Amino acid sequence: MNFFYPHYRFGSIVEISFEWLKEQGLSTLLLDVDSTLKYYSSPQILPEVADWIDQQSACGIRFCLLSNGRQHRIRKTADMLKLPYLAPAYKPLPFGCKKAMRQEHFEPLQTALIGDQVFADVLAANLAGIRSILVAPLRPEEEPFFARMKRPLERLVLSSYERNR
Ligand SMILES: [Mg+2]
Repeated sequence: MNFFYPHYRFGSIVEISFEWLKEQGLSTLLLDVDSTLKYYSSPQILPEVADWIDQQSACGIRFCLLSNGRQHRIRKTADMLKLPYLAPAYKPLPFGCKKAMRQEHFEPLQTALIGDQVFADVLAANLAGIRSILVAPLRPEEEPFFARMKRPLERLVLSSYERNR
């Protein structure tokens, strides 16, 4: 398999339904934070995303935030959502994924990482041996230079992914 290719792709996290997760055998999810749950420049989780997390939790899906952001910042987000977290995760290295799964007792076969970056989220999940779900970044124009820099290369990987699937 290509380590840069996501297992699944969605326009946004809120497009992922509980029924679909169930069909894929996914019950535990690691969630990237910036540009996946919220705009890069804002501390606020988008209300529709917070609702989505509540709905999935009510159906029995369990979550853990997994971010490369600093601990004190991600802890605030986690507290707001009442979710566990691990940060900084040092994605694309797989160790953060594995540590979060151990910490939360997530089974690899039932776990996916949802995130917006091929070279951080998708690669980390694939290296950790779990499934990767790529979503389109929320407001990518707000991202810092180092994140925007990677987008053209991501588009290249994703166009080859689309051709090959
Ligand atoms: Mg992100």
